Amino acid sequence: VAKRTGRNMVQGYEPFMKKALAERADIEKRLRLALTAREISPYYQPLIDLQTGEIRAFEALARWRDPDDGFISPDVFIAMAEDIGLIMELTNQLLTQACSDAASWPKNIQLAVNLSPKMMVDRLLGIRIIRILAQTGLAPFRLEIEITESALIADIDLAKTVINDLRTAGIKVVLDDFGTGYSSLSQLSNLYFDKIKIDKSFVATFQSNDKQMNIVRTVIALGKGLGIAITAEGIENVSQMDALRQLGCRFGQGFLIGKAIPSEEVPQLLEHQCPHLKREATSML
Ligand code: C2E
Ligand code: MG
Ligand code: MG
Ligand code: MG
Repeated sequence: VAKRTGRNMVQGYEPFMKKALAERADIEKRLRLALTAREISPYYQPLIDLQTGEIRAFEALARWRDPDDGFISPDVFIAMAEDIGLIMELTNQLLTQACSDAASWPKNIQLAVNLSPKMMVDRLLGIRIIRILAQTGLAPFRLEIEITESALIADIDLAKTVINDLRTAGIKVVLDDFGTGYSSLSQLSNLYFDKIKIDKSFVATFQSNDKQMNIVRTVIALGKGLGIAITAEGIENVSQMDALRQLGCRFGQGFLIGKAIPSEEVPQLLEHQCPHLKREATSML
């Protein structure tokens, strides 16, 4: 039986692999073309101050719209860009575009940008980013660089150097997806972050999970103690938002508040300022 199953698996596996490899080669080719044609651009998801409901920042999220396939997820093409050595070029394009967009927003609105963990091995990363700020005219204190926990594990000393460079220049550094990686509270005391983002997987279930509730509560308390602002991501309903507010979480982000929008729609959103969220906030007082 084992033998037959084994053979069947091999038979089923090969054509599947071939197809997968062909598809991958095709999407790689298209990624190169899209990069040259500058078809990948940042969209902007709002972050609010949970206590007032006001928009305080936008997170730049890469969007690739393929003429045939529609939107391709950054989870797919960022990893691919990393694998085929295009991540630096892609990040340069996105960061430059995002900084120049943000330079035209009101001065009290921050820009958050994600950095690939794979880029944390570049000693000159800090300098490259500072150069982009100078070129686009965005003040360093308006930029927040988001790094996931995994980024810090690969080469901790180099990561520290890059983080120091960024923070010395006045750029804020955010620990993204907190709670998912090799979750380590020790990282928080060893490295220096200005902000922590609690991963959306916690926000999705913490209300019905005592253990997660305790973690969220502890991270918020820890943040207060260390002077690190906490953001909750993935807020999808009012109940989650209210619970996080009550726990004293400072910032929030999620589909309830708003999805990522193209640059042209940012001024309009800022003008209308999510009125339903503001009203919620005032009714809390
Ligand atoms: P991330 O930085 O943790 O970004 C948050 C992701 O959660 C985004 O997915 C966002 O659209 C999604 N999200 C926001 N609110 C909600 C919500 O209420 N519910 C749910 N279910 N999801 C929500 P997206 O845009 O698909 O990006 C996925 C990941 O890809 C990002 O996770 C980030 O790690 C990476 N990424 C995106 N853009 C870039 C980029 O320009 N450079 C790099 N290096 N990575 C990027
Ligand atoms: Mg992020
Ligand atoms: Mg995140
Ligand atoms: Mg993520």
